[in-house]
Amino acid sequence: MSNIYDVVIIGSGPAGLAAGLYASRANMKTLILEKERTGGQIVSTEEVANYPGSIQDATGPSLIARMVEQADEFGAERKIDEVKEINLEGKIKVIKGEKDEYQCKSVIIATGAKPRLLGAPGEKEFTGKGVSYCATCDGAFFEDLQVFVIGGGDSAVEEAMFLTKFARKVTIVHRRDALKAAKSIQEKAFKNEKIDFIWNSEVKELKGDGILESMTLLNRETGEETVIEADEEDGTFGVFVFVGFRPMTDLFDGIVDMERGYIKTDDNMKTNIDGVFAAGDCRVKSLRQVVTATADGAIAAVQAEKYVDNNFGE
Ligand code: NAP
Repeated sequence: MSNIYDVVIIGSGPAGLAAGLYASRANMKTLILEKERTGGQIVSTEEVANYPGSIQDATGPSLIARMVEQADEFGAERKIDEVKEINLEGKIKVIKGEKDEYQCKSVIIATGAKPRLLGAPGEKEFTGKGVSYCATCDGAFFEDLQVFVIGGGDSAVEEAMFLTKFARKVTIVHRRDALKAAKSIQEKAFKNEKIDFIWNSEVKELKGDGILESMTLLNRETGEETVIEADEEDGTFGVFVFVGFRPMTDLFDGIVDMERGYIKTDDNMKTNIDGVFAAGDCRVKSLRQVVTATADGAIAAVQAEKYVDNNFGE
């Protein structure tokens, strides 16, 4: 049984890393699988001001680096391998990755969520050529240019404020007549002289010649279309899209119980399948934050340990 992991954790964002830390600290043989880069979404976040104990100037990458170090210290194994298939039916679960196959006694799904796309014509074509989903990654490319932020939630407004560090002007384009972001965040944005608003409008089309040069907005109230062109001197402008997230759970569709694509769990992070737990942004919950993701990860690992002890103990 020595090649069988006590727990395989799929995903290495804050939920997966916290689960890895708790599981390996409990002496479970632990593997964390990640398909591309360690850290999940938070790696794209500049400021992590609301994670309890965050030090001043803490960034997403620095927080993740410390979590990884902790999980490694306790002996969690980490591997980059994209999971392609899973069999969760038997007592021993089988996870097939692109590179290898893994057997385990319990599974923690911590696959997170990804930015939602607008679905407007031109969006894909101009991604990385004017359209971005990460202010931390791409904000600096728009030094002294005009930037539009699409969305009205916490992410849109916070990232708009961050972008004012670089951009000449930031305009938030929202499809309603009021923001959805927390009042405290809204107040800061309304006070920021570099931020403007366009209400009741959605992006109809993005155009350009190799690089983004124009954006057509549709006013949902009046039906009027407005074409925004890049200043001649600038040649381009930025469109940062923050319109929510979609859960990364396709792999578990029809296998694990879900609600609108998010995995259903009980308070102990248990799914409908024995020995299978879910943690973080991929599950049904009311608040998707680093603090709740790490808490989920800790609970899932402790419950997985109990499950393994009860079902595989000597
Ligand atoms: P969100 O709260 O779901 O907001 C998405 C926004 O995008 C909404 O205003 C929505 O408009 C708009 N939208 C959706 N689809 C659109 C489309 N196709 N075209 C134009 N607009 C569209 O997403 P979020 O801001 O990314 O936040 C996600 C979660 O993370 C939330 O729970 C949030 O509180 C949390 N968060 C917290 C913080 C913080 O506390 N500091 C920071 C970031 C995120 P409608 O209102 O019309 O649907």
